[in-house]
Amino acid sequence: MEDAPEPFEFSEPMPCYEPNPSLAPALEDGRCVHCRKFLTLECPYIDHFLGEDEE
Ligand SMILES: [Zn+2]
Repeated sequence: MEDAPEPFEFSEPMPCYEPNPSLAPALEDGRCVHCRKFLTLECPYIDHFLGEDEE
């Protein structure tokens, strides 16, 4: 069998990732959580970060 798609994980840089200048360089690990779009509507992962409490 082929490898099944894994659940969304921050195992690699997010496609939308753009370094957030407000963060220390040491914190910039290429993950979306540190992208300057994080928690903005520009980030395509906004829904993921906001959780799934509301539907
Ligand atoms: Zn992002």
